[in-house]
Amino acid sequence: MSANLFELFRSRFPADRSRTFIEVPGGVTISYADLEAMSARYAHALVEAGVKPGDRVAVQVDKSAEAVVLYLACLRSGSVLLPLNTAYQAGELEYFLSDAAPAAVVCQPHRLAELEGLAAKAGITTCVMTLGASGDGTLPERAKGKAESFATVPRGGDDMGAILYSSGTTGRPKGAMMSHTNLGSNSQTLHRLWGFKPDDVLLHCLPIFHTHGLFVAINCVLLNGSAMIFCPKFDAEQAIGLLKRATVFMGVPTFYTRFLTSPNLTPQACSHMRLFISGSAPLLEETFNAFKDRTGFTILERYGMTEGGMFTSNPLDGDRRAGTVGFPLPDVELRITGEDGRILPQGEVGIIEVKGPNIFKGYWNMPEKTKSDFTPDGFFKSGDVGVIDERGYVSIVGRAKDLIISGGFNVYPKEVEDFIDRLPGVVESAVVGMPHPDFGEAGLAIVVAEKGAAVTPDGVIDALKGLLANFKVPKQAVVVSELPRNAMGKVQKNVLRDSYAEMWK
Ligand code: ATP
Ligand code: MG
Repeated sequence: MSANLFELFRSRFPADRSRTFIEVPGGVTISYADLEAMSARYAHALVEAGVKPGDRVAVQVDKSAEAVVLYLACLRSGSVLLPLNTAYQAGELEYFLSDAAPAAVVCQPHRLAELEGLAAKAGITTCVMTLGASGDGTLPERAKGKAESFATVPRGGDDMGAILYSSGTTGRPKGAMMSHTNLGSNSQTLHRLWGFKPDDVLLHCLPIFHTHGLFVAINCVLLNGSAMIFCPKFDAEQAIGLLKRATVFMGVPTFYTRFLTSPNLTPQACSHMRLFISGSAPLLEETFNAFKDRTGFTILERYGMTEGGMFTSNPLDGDRRAGTVGFPLPDVELRITGEDGRILPQGEVGIIEVKGPNIFKGYWNMPEKTKSDFTPDGFFKSGDVGVIDERGYVSIVGRAKDLIISGGFNVYPKEVEDFIDRLPGVVESAVVGMPHPDFGEAGLAIVVAEKGAAVTPDGVIDALKGLLANFKVPKQAVVVSELPRNAMGKVQKNVLRDSYAEMWK
């Protein structure tokens, strides 16, 4: 039997195909019947453009219902979807094109000439097509009039369904090769675990070039055969208005902090809701508590990464604990290891390693990195530092790359940040390790203060001295108005390290 993910989805589509799949507020509505017909037409257009099974299709387009159709058309044609952040510019795109050598590129209409030029520069022969925000462009034009049925190309479970580039938070994005089984297994696990019901309506405000919005959110809806309200962008007021018609929401922590700035976020506004989920970056305990106080809802936080989708989740029924990312998923083995690779006992801090049917097949074009990121017994070294408590809940302490070794001692930035965040007048903070003439490396605290609060750099350092061992206290602090974040709301520590590179030189 074919392991093509599309066939799994189709087996779950509602018997009544006239039911809504996507509703774009103020835009199109697509039923499951439309989805089958449109994805067939798009698949024919891809084949006609020269795309063969196994070929990559690079997609850098605005979020739209048609972009979701394109995802499914790639699956149906047996090709490999390669979604790209719309923020990527020429220099970055040249790398992706030469790295992945896609047989087709689908881009925003206004960037057609640029992409054609970049493809030529990257030395690849590819068919460049366009897809606009309102479903316009040369790809839908080519698809027009094509047959509404398409024999989905059979795929094996290990065949690639997508290459998803990581967010580039710690360096150049890496292309994670995701097989049909990787994607299907994780989606089915999450769909079950989060208790999806036939009438659930997902409010979707995330970007779709990232695992969270693309695979976690959309795949759950497809497996559920239900509807989603699909907003091109996150707008807190619009989203709060739409919660009245939705039952499930998935967001990054910044969505929740923006919700909380609105007086319209009330228990009434959430009365139709069943579940709020957060992930992709750490959810502050303060946000978790404030959301609960305001709405009565306990946010369910989960953890994962591009390289395997989700790894852990707080429980649907049971205690959702602030500051933790819950338990390993039923089909994911998770362990904590020390620097020497030794498996650490419960309660000790170390590297999170994971194994399961969802873990990727390796980094595209990076066999050496792939090899060094897996243990001999097949666990993936996530690069995240974490700990498991006595009840089995996993907490993320930070990234191994952000660990600071100051005067020979290990300092975990998150521990220090938690103390800074609790100081009066502080909104949030980031502690980064910087080369230091005396200590080899030392912590620099970048602190965001509340408007009008009397937070001073020296005040922060003095306060920490009374709270933390001296080697953990940052050597200096700076007060800023905001932290640099990427599209997924992740704090870009590499940007901070670059900005302050001259600090102690
Ligand atoms: P790159 O690998 O290119 O540097 P990235 O790791 O940010 O970028 P993603 O795969 O998008 O790319 O993000 C996965 C990372 O996000 C995880 O490794 C983890 O550090 C972080 N993360 C995800 N969910 C959570 C969470 N709930 N709490 C804390 N961190 C999280
Ligand atoms: Mg990563």
